[in-house]
Amino acid sequence: MKCLHCDGDKFEEKNCRFTPEVKGEEVEIVVPAMVCTKCNIPLMNDAQMSQLRKAAADTYRKAHGLLTSEEIVNFRSLFDMSQAAFANYLKIGEASIKRWETYFVQDISQDEHIRLKCDEAYAEYSALNVHWKSHPPDIYSGNRRFSWELFKQAVRYLIKFTKSPLFLNKALFYIDFKHYQLNGMSITGTRYAHLEYGPCPQQYENLIDFMIREGTLIQSDGHTLKSIETADLSIFSDSEKEILELVANLAKPDGGKKLLKLSHQEDAYKNSESMALISYEFAKHLKI
Ligand SMILES: [Zn+2]
Repeated sequence: MKCLHCDGDKFEEKNCRFTPEVKGEEVEIVVPAMVCTKCNIPLMNDAQMSQLRKAAADTYRKAHGLLTSEEIVNFRSLFDMSQAAFANYLKIGEASIKRWETYFVQDISQDEHIRLKCDEAYAEYSALNVHWKSHPPDIYSGNRRFSWELFKQAVRYLIKFTKSPLFLNKALFYIDFKHYQLNGMSITGTRYAHLEYGPCPQQYENLIDFMIREGTLIQSDGHTLKSIETADLSIFSDSEKEILELVANLAKPDGGKKLLKLSHQEDAYKNSESMALISYEFAKHLKI
């Protein structure tokens, strides 16, 4: 690296003051730069340059009451969404998210849109969280507290083989009950209810709806669901992974039709009352 002004070749990293323009407005920032030891003129490498752009954009955002790049990233991570999922949830291009999370300043209407959508998602998310997490683990949750994270990853994994809520719900029922039968604990902590179409996660519509609204599931023709991300199986224990695979293999040949039929013959279904929660005690006599 050579100084563009005096040909000097010794540099020191120093915090320097700059006054770049953002949207026609001058902002003042202090960021690190390489300073020529001979003539004191700063020079920047690529990393420092992008740091400068980001600092300039964030200074402008703060001055105008807009969300900073970090706040946008925080919103996204709060819901555990990828940039693609977040873009889908906000109904905007993924490229915009990438730029907003760095140096491209969103305009006021975009800023309001992000806040509104995130507040909405947050309200729903916490309502579901409170509802499910406030119940202590018992025989109806398979001795385990409900976990959103485990539920979501299980859905992402099983939806590949089952495709619609009707079949997905049975696959979920089987992973939780089978794991309870073998290990005394369910996988996701989900409570299942006896519904007309078989055993279903309690409030499954809210759970699946939330995943659709947040953009991690896509509904293509009214019934078929697709996950836009591959499941992260690393959060499951070995015994949980085994059961997930077992149920996936049973669902694979016919999309879960056999599981659906079987689920109606289970004691868990035949001996529980319509609309009532199903006790995991019935897992003793599972047909798979
Ligand atoms: Zn110089």
